[in-house]
Amino acid sequence: MFSIKKILILCGIFTTTQVFALPQDSRRAGGIAVIPLAQNVTEVSYNGQAVLLTQPNAQRYAVFGIPLSTPVGTLQLQTNAQPIQIEIQPYKYAEQRLTIKNQDYVNPQQEQLDRYAHEAKEQNDIYASFTAAQSADFPRFIHPTAGKFSNSFGRKRFFNGEERAPHSGLDIPAPVGQKVVAPAIGIVVGVGDYFFNGKTVLVDHGQGLISMFCHLSKINVEKGQRLQQGEVLGLVGKTGRVTGPHLHWGMSLNNARIDPQLFLAR
Ligand SMILES: [Zn+2]
Repeated sequence: MFSIKKILILCGIFTTTQVFALPQDSRRAGGIAVIPLAQNVTEVSYNGQAVLLTQPNAQRYAVFGIPLSTPVGTLQLQTNAQPIQIEIQPYKYAEQRLTIKNQDYVNPQQEQLDRYAHEAKEQNDIYASFTAAQSADFPRFIHPTAGKFSNSFGRKRFFNGEERAPHSGLDIPAPVGQKVVAPAIGIVVGVGDYFFNGKTVLVDHGQGLISMFCHLSKINVEKGQRLQQGEVLGLVGKTGRVTGPHLHWGMSLNNARIDPQLFLAR
């Protein structure tokens, strides 16, 4: 009797790990659609933004980040051939109420708003960029730092009772000084000390897949530096708008902020 692994090898699927390197398909706002493509489809875009393509086996896929603001219903992607329609499912994110002692972080002064606008543009330009793939396969991801975390992505947030933008990353509580590593191969495309995000590193994994690490106490890398998976990029801290030490890990794909948990092995 053949084992499943032998059958897969006989079918021409080389290893199961290559298949699992793809992120989880979760068709909701803030999720990811992993879409098998017809043979004639070689380019995919959404609102003029190029969509990541990968071919881990005989099948080519589009890996599309679904913006947090996407309503439930049908969404259409453009291609060089026929359009692709995907169904966005309903999903309810939790609410979080936080008390921030420093009022500037709830209602910033004009000077701080100007600083934030400048920083946000710098980060958004990085998110909107599209570079060549870093590797032939879809990059495999590991945890950027050790620690137990709850499902904090997408939470509706109220600071001192006032509603603000939903939480666009995953918070991993950890002690100040704990190592933060590159979860996948990539290039450092941004390093800064930002008003809300504190000391921050942005890493480009190729084809519009960008990760962001915030509130660091120390940054160990420079812009332009190539990182291997597992290489230390900084240390956990509590810089910027925080209630305690933790790593904020953000992921952006085709300029959509998406749930980092979808990149981790199940
Ligand atoms: Zn956070």
